[in-house]
Amino acid sequence: MTFATLGLIEPLLRALETLGYQTPTPVQAKAIPPVLEGRDLMAAAQTGTGKTAGFALPLLQRLTMEGPKVAPNSVRALILVPTRELAEQVHEAIRQYAEHLPLTTYAVYGGVSINPQMMKLRRGVDVLVATPGRLLDLNRQNAVKFSQVQTLVLDEADRMLDLGFSEELRGIYAALPKRRQTLLFSATFSDPIRALASQMLTNPLSIEVSPRNVAASSVKQWVVTVDKKRKTELFIHLLKKQRWGQVLVFAKTRVGVDQLVERLQGLSINADGIHGDKPQATRQRALDRFKAGEVQILVATDVAARGLDIDDLPTVVNLDLPIVAEDYVHRIGRTGRAGQTGEAISLVCADEVELLSAIEVLTRQTLQRKEEPDFIPEHRVPVTDASGQILKKPKKPKKPKVSGGGAGKRNLGKWVDSGDVAAEAPAVKPVRKVPAFNTGPRKRKP
Ligand code: AMP
Repeated sequence: MTFATLGLIEPLLRALETLGYQTPTPVQAKAIPPVLEGRDLMAAAQTGTGKTAGFALPLLQRLTMEGPKVAPNSVRALILVPTRELAEQVHEAIRQYAEHLPLTTYAVYGGVSINPQMMKLRRGVDVLVATPGRLLDLNRQNAVKFSQVQTLVLDEADRMLDLGFSEELRGIYAALPKRRQTLLFSATFSDPIRALASQMLTNPLSIEVSPRNVAASSVKQWVVTVDKKRKTELFIHLLKKQRWGQVLVFAKTRVGVDQLVERLQGLSINADGIHGDKPQATRQRALDRFKAGEVQILVATDVAARGLDIDDLPTVVNLDLPIVAEDYVHRIGRTGRAGQTGEAISLVCADEVELLSAIEVLTRQTLQRKEEPDFIPEHRVPVTDASGQILKKPKKPKKPKVSGGGAGKRNLGKWVDSGDVAAEAPAVKPVRKVPAFNTGPRKRKP
């Protein structure tokens, strides 16, 4: 199968040739024909499967072949994404695909000045990539009107809900023309997403190109158990011992990111960090330098987990496990992309056993454990498996001497007790019985 047989027009084929895309990926083969026909789509596709081109190519073709010229302060296609980085990345891909088309494209997101965005929107743009919060702001200030929108794309839709964008999505949805095409893309499909889909899509075609919630099989995954306080030391040990090249490291909190970067830089290791507290320009610069190979270790919170396309990234390390199990799939999706092999290593302490268990249940696999002789933990991590069983309870931390909490309170351990005000996910409710399965909204700005 070729892109030409899928019905794409010559200017798009030329752009794809320049990019070196020879054959459509499965999601592209399945999505392009129905989207060209104008159908609504609900697509479950893993990260790195080529889903951006899956929706962008037919969308660009339809904009070129059909519909009126874009009016001032208007847009003809809206692509909503959860984070600023993803907005930049998706826009860059679209700009390349549209190279030979008479269409204008632009990206808007929060964290940067709104005025240049308002200026740019004055003449209207054919394709606008946006994060929901900033888009709604622009709409409320009449900088962008939705009356001409013929296609809406929700990319990483589950992530938008996770990040607490459901209000904004509702606001945008209410302002959109009722007659339009809607495409919903998501790596994972939770029940809230299916509910959103039933509200926003009309008679959608469902496509799925990979099993639900399973990471790319080309990624070798394992766990090293360790005491919490020795994680940084273990990371530095493994970095040297395994002779890792470029590594993307995920930490739970902004403070955790900064501390590891500082420690590595202190050892003259070329490291940088990205998290939600840093200005957008700094985040983008760190990412660009990492992509260009100028930075060896990039430490990030989950802000960086989704959708970022980093070529040839061999290694992802979870310094901390994610609180939401699905984030694990997205984190390790940064490696093993487009058929390459990669490795994903998680440093797991006893406090994280429930998170580990939830990841194993979600991904339907028991993660292999490897111990490092000098780092055998004092607090052993109980044995877990893909059935969700935890074979031995971890030792309970000693009760505090002064009792103020009342009897019968569940001991939530350090994950929720650390008092880390700079945690990247501040609105995650501390009390959660099964932490990894919370699909409720997490109020976090992109
Ligand atoms: P995505 O899943 O959209 O983030 O795409 C992942 C990566 O695959 C990006 O670097 C794309 O440029 C690349 N890609 C997408 N489609 C193709 C294709 N048909 N052939 C080769 N590379 C592709």
